Amino acid sequence: DNYSLVICFGEMLIDFVPTVNGVSLAEAPAFTKAPGGAPANVAVGISRLGGSSAFIGKVGDDEFGYMLSDILKQNSVNNSGVRYEPTARTALSFVTLRADGEREFLFFRHPSADMLLHEAELDINLLKQARIFHYGSISLIAEPCRSAQHAAISIAKKSGSILSYDPNLRLALWPSPEAARENIMSIWDQADIIKINEDEISFLTGGDDPNDDNVVLEKLFHPNLKLLIVTEGSEGCRYYTQEFKGRVPGIKVKAIDTTGAGDAFVSGILNNLASDVNLFRDEKRLREALLFANACGAITTTERGAIPALPTRQAVLQLLSK
Ligand code: ADP
Repeated sequence: DNYSLVICFGEMLIDFVPTVNGVSLAEAPAFTKAPGGAPANVAVGISRLGGSSAFIGKVGDDEFGYMLSDILKQNSVNNSGVRYEPTARTALSFVTLRADGEREFLFFRHPSADMLLHEAELDINLLKQARIFHYGSISLIAEPCRSAQHAAISIAKKSGSILSYDPNLRLALWPSPEAARENIMSIWDQADIIKINEDEISFLTGGDDPNDDNVVLEKLFHPNLKLLIVTEGSEGCRYYTQEFKGRVPGIKVKAIDTTGAGDAFVSGILNNLASDVNLFRDEKRLREALLFANACGAITTTERGAIPALPTRQAVLQLLSK
């Protein structure tokens, strides 16, 4: 039902994931072509968990663009908000996997089609239906997609959507660290829910200790924020609301590729929130939802790629019952 619709806004791309870990990009014997892009991953993640989701963004008018749009459809994600850019190609990302499954990215963006989404191309009727509107930062890097994102946030907010932000900092993409910080902070206060990691806390606070609750509460928790989540890889996550804070431990698995783990985690929490919008007021329910989200992230690290590795609800419940 559309009442619980989650709309994800931003980039959708192809990740080229090496078939073995621990070698450089040039030494990789082969790559697997995996659909990805943080907000697209979240949209598919929600759908795979049984929720209702849509994706808004732009791809190239090319083979990869149509492939990605089809993948949304095959995964029951509403793709009517996808636009096709004739003058630029679909974004590509080349992944290097370390032995422990952590990864680095090299991006094709000169610029890529996702950066060329224009405000006039937004499907306003679709946007107005969002129970939750989720977005990242890559669209903030340049015009015209920066204005498109600001407009989309403002429409969703006026329609009463819960705003969910994952800054998903990829510093290498920005013209400068100052520009990144300024753009990210320019939309910080509008979000109801923010998910960050420890590197992002250090970056946004100018090098403060990410483990210090006072740093998080004084520098990053704004008065309108309902839920701030800090993901900590295999350690799980921390949460901060206006009333309480705590930690939910991660679930032990054999990680081979962490691509998409953060996005799977976001899908897990948003999927719970879509059907229980006051989740963050009840610490017990919040902790259950965060454990569920940790399981979503954990499962995603056990397979290569992002979208191919996102779990079904059944897989999550099975891991949690072990
Ligand atoms: P991001 O990629 O956004 O920095 P994390 O790496 O912190 O996100 O991962 C997000 C979530 O996925 C974590 O909070 C945790 O629940 C789960 N996760 C990530 N890596 C692992 C791992 N190696 N083992 C188990 N769970 C993991």
